[in-house]
Amino acid sequence: MASLSVQAIVEQYARATAAKMESYVQSQYNVPDFKLKVIVSYGKRRRSSWGGMRNGKPFINLVCKRFAAASEAGVMMTETEYAHIRNDPVIGEMKDVPWETALAGLIAHEIAHAVQFFPLTKRSAMEKLGVKELDGHSCILKNHNWFWQRIYADLRTEFVNGKVTVTSTPIVVTPPPSRPQRTVNKGWKVVRQQNGKARFSFYYTTSDELIGVLCVTPDGYFRYYPDTQSVKKLNVKNFNEARKIEFGI
Ligand SMILES: [Zn+2]
Repeated sequence: MASLSVQAIVEQYARATAAKMESYVQSQYNVPDFKLKVIVSYGKRRRSSWGGMRNGKPFINLVCKRFAAASEAGVMMTETEYAHIRNDPVIGEMKDVPWETALAGLIAHEIAHAVQFFPLTKRSAMEKLGVKELDGHSCILKNHNWFWQRIYADLRTEFVNGKVTVTSTPIVVTPPPSRPQRTVNKGWKVVRQQNGKARFSFYYTTSDELIGVLCVTPDGYFRYYPDTQSVKKLNVKNFNEARKIEFGI
């Protein structure tokens, strides 16, 4: 158990960092009413940090035991991320970083959820990111999907990544959609995105359920599995052929 003074130092750093990001969000999304409630938690049984909206207000709840422990022990930390973004060079896992950087990463992650769900910042971010025409319930806007990833990436770049040497080399990089193009009369739509040398096609049903992802690189055509971030090589000549074989559409 970290000493009280160490806990106080971690808490102070967490609040100062959250305050910086809060004021950045206020100006970045032009929402002065984005006023974060910050809860710093050392409870023994609390495992998960949270960010979002409660009682109409944006909040983050940070589980800080591990940062205090690392601070006290004077060791570096690995701040992990969800499997589907872990290898992303911007929003992925951070290895061997000081506790301050790891904590700043967690704060950015949770504040991105608050921006994602607080109605004023949600609307502003949708506009800023070119997806304001999306249905508010689109899966693109939910969970740890594209919309949250873009908000998180901005905070990571602005406040966290400058302090980190990124060593991971992703096979393929995260983000999906920007502007869904509906393909008429077929019950599905496709969203295309260029990512370095890779070109992705994300196939959705008309109700925005992800059907699957295809990808072409100089090495050929692949099916991409976002959940496991793995790929399967396809023996096809184009996306249309791959789509028919892989998804039957
Ligand atoms: Zn999250």
